[in-house]
Amino acid sequence: MSARVLVVDDVSANVKLLEAKLTREYFDVLTASDGYQALEKAEAEQPDIILLDVMMPGMDGFEVCEKLKANPATQHLPVVMVTALSDTADKVRGLEVGADDFLTKPVNDTALFSRVRSLTRLKMMMDEWRARESTSNELGVIERGPCEIEEDGTRAGILVIEDSAMDRDRIETTLAQQDHNLTLVETGVEGLQTLSADMFDLIIISLTLIDEDGLRLCSQIRSQERSRQIPILLLADDGDLDRTAKGLELGANDYLVKPIERSELLARVRTQIRRKRYQDRLRQNYEESLSMALTDSLTGLFNRRYLTTHLERIIQRISETRKPVSAILFDIDHFKIVNDTYGHAVGDEVLKEIADRVSRNLRNFDMVARMGGEEFVIIMPEAPLEAASFVAERLRMRIANEPFKVNAPVGQLDVSVSLGVASVHDAGARPEALIERADKALYAAKHKGRNCVVADGLDDI
Ligand code: GH3
Ligand code: MG
Ligand code: MG
Repeated sequence: MSARVLVVDDVSANVKLLEAKLTREYFDVLTASDGYQALEKAEAEQPDIILLDVMMPGMDGFEVCEKLKANPATQHLPVVMVTALSDTADKVRGLEVGADDFLTKPVNDTALFSRVRSLTRLKMMMDEWRARESTSNELGVIERGPCEIEEDGTRAGILVIEDSAMDRDRIETTLAQQDHNLTLVETGVEGLQTLSADMFDLIIISLTLIDEDGLRLCSQIRSQERSRQIPILLLADDGDLDRTAKGLELGANDYLVKPIERSELLARVRTQIRRKRYQDRLRQNYEESLSMALTDSLTGLFNRRYLTTHLERIIQRISETRKPVSAILFDIDHFKIVNDTYGHAVGDEVLKEIADRVSRNLRNFDMVARMGGEEFVIIMPEAPLEAASFVAERLRMRIANEPFKVNAPVGQLDVSVSLGVASVHDAGARPEALIERADKALYAAKHKGRNCVVADGLDDI
């Protein structure tokens, strides 16, 4: 995996050192020698990760980080603060202004590469979601701008797997400050059981479990669909950098070195939870936009776009089923009068009721779509023209014979539809041709006086 890293430091020897290390590992390196240049390059070049020096004249690293995280164009870029200070207060301050991690000088290679790799991996996944979101925006199915990271990191469900009573207690009292809902267990087995029953926003795993291997637990959690997306925070021992690095490779998102420092724990937990919520929201938007792209919001039926794509597949299946596919196209009679007399809202009620009546009277694998306006289509796989005509006649009666209850002074309305039916027998037939023929039949039904069914005479059964 090659990634682009922006190294920011006012001392050119430091830049050169990091650049050499990273280049050796095949990363692309960009550099900046002060905060202003860093902000410019971050926005223009969109690196995959930023290694940011804290102590710089003019604008220091904290301020640069704060500005990066406040700008929608750069807020998603992961930032690792690099500093000679190992003071916890500074660490926490960095995390508080939005930094994703901290490295101390002289930079340890294992720590450097494992952080860079895990953060770039995370960023690539986020980039994918962001790309899908902007596609949805382009398609015009989402009416809002791009998502911003604004979730707060409190009141989350957190699972803690830790066998040290002292550490459990420390975690519990610390996280209680942010109203988190904690589940504390002592073994991996209990942890996995809990995970299969409940959903969590974060899993904290101790790498110092006495009877089992926290790393194995990590990989088990990552291998299960249900827990694959939940962030993992490792609790590591000071001298256990290799296992920590291995954990990050296995998919853990972050780590904390024991003894647990309260404010650092709070800050890291909050970062993970905010990120998880942001990611959840991107995914949810995407799923919503998908369903918006495929269905009609008024009736919940499929829309024309979905129908045309799907109809092609249904017709192709004729080569296996050897049975014809039929289409019933129908249109409400004199619908304009309903709108003009009772208003658009009543018209909408009628459209919804039509959709309900039709859906209730079809087989499971028949498909109904709203083609637009007050025109609908039903696609019936494995149905010859006679069967489809029979269904069309039944629908006509279900609509015409029972008045529609509506929210107008009259309370109920007589509604009727005209229907055209056509079928195809050839797996190579064009979907448009089937719809056109049903449309001609529908036109004939309107011409005949409405509230009736006409089947396409060209059919060659
Ligand atoms: P015909 O029997 O020939 O089909 O006559 P019609 O009045 O149904 O047909 P026309 O095409 O003249 O009018 C269709 C009307 O459908 C006009 C439009 O205002 C209405 N319409 C289209 N979409 C909607 C909608 O989403 N909601 C409502 N309430 N009305 C709609
Ligand atoms: Mg400096
Ligand atoms: Mg009409």
